[in-house]
This record gives sequence, structure tokens and C-alpha cells, in this order.
Amino acid sequence: MSDPRKIVLDESRIPRNWYNIVPDLPAPPPPPLHPGTRQPVGPDDLAPLFPMELIAQEVSAERHLPIPDSVLDVYRLWRPTPLIRARGLERSLGTPARIYYKYEGGSPSGSHKPNTAVPQAYYNAQQGVRRLTTETGAGQWGSALAFACAQFGLECEVWMVHASYDQKPYRRSLMQVYGATVHASPSAVTSAGSKILAEDPDSPGSLGIAISEAVEVAGSHEDTRYALGSVLNHVLTHQTVIGEEAIEQLAAAGETPDVIVGCTGGGSNFAGLTFPFIREKLAGKIDPVIRAVEPEACPSFTRGIYAYDFGDTAGFTPLLMMHTLGHLFMPDPIHAGGLRYHGMSPLLSHMYELGLFEAVAKGQSECFEAGLRFARTEGIIPAPEPTHAIAETIAEAVRCRESGEEKVILTALCGHGHFDLSAYERFMSGQMEDYVLPQERIDEALAHLP
Ligand SMILES: *Cc1c(COP(=O)(O)O)cnc(C)c1O
Repeated sequence: MSDPRKIVLDESRIPRNWYNIVPDLPAPPPPPLHPGTRQPVGPDDLAPLFPMELIAQEVSAERHLPIPDSVLDVYRLWRPTPLIRARGLERSLGTPARIYYKYEGGSPSGSHKPNTAVPQAYYNAQQGVRRLTTETGAGQWGSALAFACAQFGLECEVWMVHASYDQKPYRRSLMQVYGATVHASPSAVTSAGSKILAEDPDSPGSLGIAISEAVEVAGSHEDTRYALGSVLNHVLTHQTVIGEEAIEQLAAAGETPDVIVGCTGGGSNFAGLTFPFIREKLAGKIDPVIRAVEPEACPSFTRGIYAYDFGDTAGFTPLLMMHTLGHLFMPDPIHAGGLRYHGMSPLLSHMYELGLFEAVAKGQSECFEAGLRFARTEGIIPAPEPTHAIAETIAEAVRCRESGEEKVILTALCGHGHFDLSAYERFMSGQMEDYVLPQERIDEALAHLP
């Protein structure tokens, strides 16, 4: 095929398996620990929170996990997603680089999150669970889970970080349209939330607090389970449909990636895009540079430490070995709500320690500048989270312009920004602040590691 703009695959090309990278790694990641005994957690510890099938996937040693037919049938609503050559962006930069983006914003809720929300709702429904609880930052995960629960007849209850609840009222409405119940977090309906409200009635909330609330309710009701939108192995594995399709699409375009860039909050879209390419890299077939991009206001890879920490603020979750800023860290209210998480996926943290990819941090002004350029050249308005990946993609393409290198750059455009226009408005009117994080705030939060 000569110089395509958009590479689309037929419905029959949706992958039949998710790819579990763990058996291909030189060493397995350290296990989650029970906070009381400090022993690795077993299935019984997790059973109050997750259905057995997802617990099995979480610790699976199988390379390929088959995608159930009922899940494939829902995936067919928007998969395979297109791989698009960013020719307008390339032209505007005057770069010899060839830039491709895998666009996940065409899913019903507008991001990559339904790739895991759908199987999670499916396995819970199969096990007879009646209700799922969860947290959401910017609202993308909550709306993805609300959509997925509606597909399989489950109730859905969402704790939305208060800062986002105010900033993104239409994301809240979207969840309600899908039939979910939404609380601003911290909320008075849980003891974890009430405790924080008692200390700080104006708390803007955080993902860590919202997780505590959702876990508390799931853990105390027999018919209720909890769903997590990122961080855990099974979530990252579900997202690998992104990278599997991208491999086939780049091959159809006759291209081999030199640089792969993705944004990281808990790590799921980055893992979804990169794991299949890292498999090929470990097998010696390709050798791309792989780079994660995180916000300067919440820099877990680049300024956090690699240690066992809680996944939530109240300390209800198992201890996870990960890059963390400390479970009590309260990130500034940047607009990329999906990147405001104190920790990072343990699997990605382990792989970062193994040197399998790099990480950089960016301020939000540079990212929104990149988002505007992207919208004006490619037409799609990116969500604030993937503007981080786009900013780094642009930086790489500018380096190519200076060196004359014709690199192939691949990135994930993991969601659209139609619900984030107030953030763009703030940027365009010059009201957006960059929060440079003082070292004392990191030191203070890290002083409370378990
Ligand atoms: C949730 C979300 C993120 C951050 O989560 P990851 O697990 O790191 O992908 C990034 N972008 C979008 C569009 C999201 O919805």
C-alpha cells in the first residue's frame, strides 16, 4: 500500500487473545503483599473484590488469554480502531519523521477504557455479581464502566474525584445516561470519605481517596465487586488489543517503529500499545525506543521511589511494589485527571527497573499547546492525558527535523477531549498554570510509606 493516511482493519482482524507479557519477561514482577502479614496475597484475599476469572488472569502464567465471544461481540462496536498517519501534524512541523497514532477515541465512551471495562463487567456478570463499584478521575473510566455495566445488566456506582466532578459535569451526565450512580469523592456515604471530609471539608479529592471509598463498599457487600480501570496486570493485558492491531496495521503500511510514545497515569494505555511491541523487541525482531510520558505535577516514574505502597489513601488495598509518590500524596488539580495517581502499575514499574522503556515528565501548558496544534492539523481534539504523549511526539519530530532523521514515531491517541473543552478554554485564555512540584512535598508524602 502506498502512503496511506488511515489504516483500517476488517472486523475479523480483532485479536482473539489478550497478550500477557509476564511469561516473556526476564524476571517476574514482585507480588502484591497482604498489609497485615506481609505475605503474598492469595486468591482468597482478593475474592471479596474481584471475580475469580479476573483473579486468575491477574496471576496468569499463560502468554495468550482467549477473549470470550460475548466480549468480542461488544468490541465489534468500535474495534479494530484506526491507525492514522499524522500527515497534517508532520507538515506543520516540517519534520521528515513519519508519525502514526492509534486512535482509541472512537469507542462509545470516547477512550481506550472500554477495552477492559467490557471484559470486567462480563466476568462479574458471569459470576452472578449484581453491582460494580469504582473510582474515576476525569470520568473516562467511570463512563467506560457505566457503558459496560449497561451491556451486561449490572448496576454501577462511581466515586468521582471532587475536582473533576466540578470541572467535568458532562462526564458525570454521561455516566448517569448509561444508568450509573455518581458520588463526588470524598463523599459522606463511606467511612473513608467521611473521615477525610471531617479533616478537610473542601478536599478536592484524589484517585487514592476515591479508590478507598469504592473498595470499602464492595468489600462490605456480598453481591458487589470492585473494578479498577488501570494499574493491575489484568487491566494492562486487556488493553493489548491496541498494540496487537497496531502491529498488523504498521506492517500493512510497510513501516517499522523507531520510537513509541504513550502517556502514563496508571499505565494501561501505554502498556496496551507497547507490550506487543516489547514482545517483538525482546525476540530481537525490532528495536524501537519506548518512552512513557507523565505530568510534572504527578511524576511517579521520574521522581517517585520504587517501593511497596498502598494503592489507595486509606490503606485498604494490598501493598504493591511500584513507583510511588506515597499513598498520601495529593496531586495539584491539573486537567489531565487520568494522570493524577500517586502510584504506577507494578508490572510497568518492574519493567522500568529492567530498563525496557524510558520515562519523561511534561508540564500541562506544553501539553495543551501540543493538543491545540494537533486539533488544528489532524482535526481530532485530544483528551488532556494523551496531549502528554503528543507533546513528546512533537519534541521527537522536531529533533528529527534538526538531525534530518526519518524516524517512524508511533503514539496512542487514547481518548478525545470533547468533555474537556473548559480546560482548552482556560489554556487559550492564558489562565492555565503549570505546577512545578517542590521536592519537600514528595519527601513529606514518602515519609508515610508503610
Ligand atoms: C484513564 C486515562 C488515562 C490514564 O490511564 P492509563 O491507565 O495510564 O492509560 C489516559 N488517557 C485517557 C484518555 C484515559 O481515559
